[in-house]
Amino acid sequence: MPELPEVEALAEFLRQQARGCVLAGVEVGEISVLKTFDPPPSALLGLEVSGVARHGKFLDLEADGLHLVFHLARGGWLRWYDEAPAAPARPGKGPLALRVRLDCAGGEDPDAAGSPGFDLTEAGTKKRLAVYVVRSPDQVPGIASLGPDPLDDSFDLAALAAILAGSRQQVKGLLREQSVIAGVGNAYSDEVLHAARLSPFAIAGRLDDEQVERLYTAMREVLIGAVAAASGRPAKELKDAKRAGMRVHGRAGQPCPVCGDTVREVSFADSSLQYCPTCQTGGKPLADRRLSRLLK
Ligand SMILES: [Zn+2]
Repeated sequence: MPELPEVEALAEFLRQQARGCVLAGVEVGEISVLKTFDPPPSALLGLEVSGVARHGKFLDLEADGLHLVFHLARGGWLRWYDEAPAAPARPGKGPLALRVRLDCAGGEDPDAAGSPGFDLTEAGTKKRLAVYVVRSPDQVPGIASLGPDPLDDSFDLAALAAILAGSRQQVKGLLREQSVIAGVGNAYSDEVLHAARLSPFAIAGRLDDEQVERLYTAMREVLIGAVAAASGRPAKELKDAKRAGMRVHGRAGQPCPVCGDTVREVSFADSSLQYCPTCQTGGKPLADRRLSRLLK
């Protein structure tokens, strides 16, 4: 799933490619991904893209007071075309959820003049990708309820301390909650906790001042580093760049790049987390219910 750094890089990429272009086509390939009906997607046609913003993991194309907002969810992705396919998108069984066509003839970049565009795609029959056409991004429920953005200037140590204070939640779960902190998901929460040398199961409200400070520093460093690594890359390279930058996430069984211990995993019904016992849990492996059940 693309998280804050990849979505930020996609926003930057779209800003460079699409700003000043006119929306020439918005074709729905899978009707269930469209979460709004008024204004209809056709209301966007002929409008010029004036900006591209990120809200948490949401992307927001602004065009003359209307917003085309989308969330790529777990398996969704954006595929950019310098020259969009001629065939119109039709509802069907394929991965295509939405096709956007741009007319960049009058755009800011004369080299980009042509008919580029992008597809939002998601494999599988059940699409979780979500598209909204709204007059204000706040009309998207997931944006209206977003917590502070960890890259925002106002997100300082005191802001994080206030979020953690009194919480009985495990810090791993809390970091992923979009209404608490915007943009961090399963992958970067693993990375942040590894950099902060904290157990994913630590109770947020019980972290001491020094641990909170480590968590804050780690969050900023990991996310700023990942944004820098993703920045300037075309959409198609972002997935690999994300994977390559991970130290523990998705690396169970491999050596921790900090201490050499073996990265371990805890599995849940629909996700898993990875961590380094030496760096994060005093050398003790965390209980993995699924694994212990299998071993019985
Ligand atoms: Zn380690």
